[in-house]
Amino acid sequence: MRDVVVIGAGLAGLTAALRLARAGRSVTLVARGVGGLSLAQGTIDILGYTPERVLRPLDAVAAVPPEHPYAGLGPDAVAAAVTWLRDELGSELLVGDPAVNLHLPTALGALRPTALAQPSMVAADARGGLTYAVVGVRQLKDFPADLVAGNLARSTAPDGGPLGATAAWVDLPARPGEADPSGLTYARSLDDAAFADRFAVAVRDAAGAGDVVLLPGVLGVRPGAGRRLAELIGRPVAEVPLLPPSVPGLRLADALRARVAAAGVRILLGSAVTGFTADGDRVATVTVAAAGGPRALAASDFVYAPGGFESGALAVDSRGAIAETVFGLPLTAADAAGLVGPRYWAPHPLFEVGVRTDAAGRPVAGDKVVHPNLYVAGGILAGPEPWREKSGDGIAVATAVRAAAMIEGGAR
Ligand SMILES: Cc1cc2nc3c(=O)[nH]c(=O)nc-3n(C[C@H](O)[C@H](O)[C@H](O)COP(=O)(O)OP(=O)(O)OC[C@H]3O[C@@H](n4cnc5c(N)ncnc54)[C@H](O)[C@@H]3O)c2cc1C
Repeated sequence: MRDVVVIGAGLAGLTAALRLARAGRSVTLVARGVGGLSLAQGTIDILGYTPERVLRPLDAVAAVPPEHPYAGLGPDAVAAAVTWLRDELGSELLVGDPAVNLHLPTALGALRPTALAQPSMVAADARGGLTYAVVGVRQLKDFPADLVAGNLARSTAPDGGPLGATAAWVDLPARPGEADPSGLTYARSLDDAAFADRFAVAVRDAAGAGDVVLLPGVLGVRPGAGRRLAELIGRPVAEVPLLPPSVPGLRLADALRARVAAAGVRILLGSAVTGFTADGDRVATVTVAAAGGPRALAASDFVYAPGGFESGALAVDSRGAIAETVFGLPLTAADAAGLVGPRYWAPHPLFEVGVRTDAAGRPVAGDKVVHPNLYVAGGILAGPEPWREKSGDGIAVATAVRAAAMIEGGAR
């Protein structure tokens, strides 16, 4: 029998699986798809907005309302979990201090608070004031250098220091004859030393004045291309994540998945969990849709990290009824009526709906634990609207680490 089954291959599922495997558990990870990590920016946000922009995320974590997933964890546990992930992935992939948010430019030239980022991004941190030489690539859409520079020049650094920016363009096809290249096309080309040399010369010759050369987030599928480019260009270089699929997101997801596989986790991707069997109130098996017919996976403990509405873990039917789709877990609201408003930027309480847990991360109905060997983590949890707060990554990591710790420590 496999010791622990983890459901979900997003940031939460991968983190839980890695922690449990490192603790010597036999782990099977089963997931329908690859999760949001490869689509997102490749950074780790703890808390970015409350709704004001946050400089010290752990202080803000200490002040969340009681229904927030961070409330049951506290700032020390959040810091320890995120620091563990940073150190596990290494400084080639993640750097930063969980206590202080970096302020990094977006592909529209706004400033985005985030706790940990890739080394290829951090030279653009605006906290102390900075000037940017923004360089776009004519063939690559989604990085409008003029707009980025214009908006950055109008922004203010968190400490009130001056920001400035110039815009320039290079004209350099990644592959001849390709009309609409993606960021991934450029990233693959930039892993090639000969193309990286030509790119560096073009950028160096075009870039205007500025402390840092700001480039689209395509600096190699593998880590390290940004450092080589900075040496060739002779100035600090930083990349800005583009729309999904984001190359830095893929870099982070690939690295984490590789570590999970290397730690001995058995990974079943492309496999949806459709139901479960119980032994009393304990989960005995989960049912996996497999090519030859449904298959039962037994374990002593289960981590459920299936995301939220965006991954299909939560669903709304034609009558507005909201449901959790595998275990039928109790949710904080059952009816979607009135929970989504007509204004896009306004709060939408539907996205706060989710599973509520005890202090160990087990789903509860009222005060009663529903399944004592089922631990939930990540986007399925009730409380915040993570998109608005920029807290989805920190919640995923911290609650996954809690789930693993409870299983290691034997919460019963
Ligand atoms: C485009 C994009 C941008 C984002 N930007 C940010 C940001 O700026 N800041 C931030 O904090 N967060 C951001 N997020 C959100 C953040 O990535 C997630 O909130 C967080 O990583 C939660 O991860 P998760 O592991 O809980 O869920 P997910 O990443 O959604 O992973 C869920 C996993 O569960 C699997 N699954 C679901 N149901 C089943 C089932 N029945 N059987 C088997 N497997 C199942 C899915 O296939 C997937 O592997 C972004 C997400 C996306 C998609």
